[in-house]
Amino acid sequence: MMKGCSDRLEMVRSYLVDETYRDALLVQSELLKGLRETLDAKGFVEILPVILSPITDPLNHEVFDASVEYYGQNYAVTKSMILHKQISVLVHEKIYSVSPNVRLETADKADSGRHLFEFVQLDMEVAGASRDEIMDVMEDAIIYAIRNVLSKYPWVKEKYHPTLKVPAKPFKRITVKEAVEKYGEAFESGLSKDIDEPVWLIDIPLLNREFYDKQDPERPDVLLDFDLIYPEGFGEGISGGEREHEYEQIIRRMKLKGTSPEEYTDYLELAKQGVLKPSAGCGIGIERFTRYVMGLEHVRQTRLFAKVPGESAL
Ligand code: ASP
Ligand code: MG
Repeated sequence: MMKGCSDRLEMVRSYLVDETYRDALLVQSELLKGLRETLDAKGFVEILPVILSPITDPLNHEVFDASVEYYGQNYAVTKSMILHKQISVLVHEKIYSVSPNVRLETADKADSGRHLFEFVQLDMEVAGASRDEIMDVMEDAIIYAIRNVLSKYPWVKEKYHPTLKVPAKPFKRITVKEAVEKYGEAFESGLSKDIDEPVWLIDIPLLNREFYDKQDPERPDVLLDFDLIYPEGFGEGISGGEREHEYEQIIRRMKLKGTSPEEYTDYLELAKQGVLKPSAGCGIGIERFTRYVMGLEHVRQTRLFAKVPGESAL
């Protein structure tokens, strides 16, 4: 049930009385700075986000449609900049964007603690990179950002998250196959509750991801991609991988997933003409990263004007 006007005003009142919001915004600002500084020092170029486009990430799960009609053209509201990232790396080899995403999730996600129907991810991509290189960059970025927060705001530990540590490099890795053997079907939450530092979940099964993550040519049932799983039950915080760029293969992958090629004509034309090149990258959810570092119950506590699935927002 949609919450009404008084709840929305209550939300604003809580900004004024609950110091968690003030603290979370300080931490978030510092985390973003840490991520940006790491990528900037590695030669990345920050590009501006795309909000409306004829094409966007189809996502691997159903959300309500979000699009606008403008002079006869239908523009989707960005679910992720993945397809634009693949084109952007043709201009600058290493790019990132602090990208607002709208995913109109179903109301059952309200209490997951991890979902907002509008959120921000730092979405990065590198031309010609391997999965390992992307994971390495993100380990540096996460370690630097957390260290940065803890040196500036040491109260984060005592006041909010006493068990928080600066993770050590390299982060451990586990394949989805191993995780299923160990934790069963709910492997993502099983893994997350079992670990005390972030762990990479790799080799995601072919049909569990969108068409753009690269199929491993040597093991065709898995993808050369990854999620980062935060410890202590905070769950998934990053998705990424190597990308498909060849026309025939993209079409094959779209058909396997039931994605209609007709909706992606411009993108497919670029692939057909050989314009798309190999790349790899990922996106880190900013509200989820903040929630984990702060040790909070729900991402709604990490930003102003949070839009929780199924609730009416200000
Ligand atoms: N940004 C992610 C990626 O680079 C996709 C996502 O948003 O889930 O793979
Ligand atoms: Mg994901």
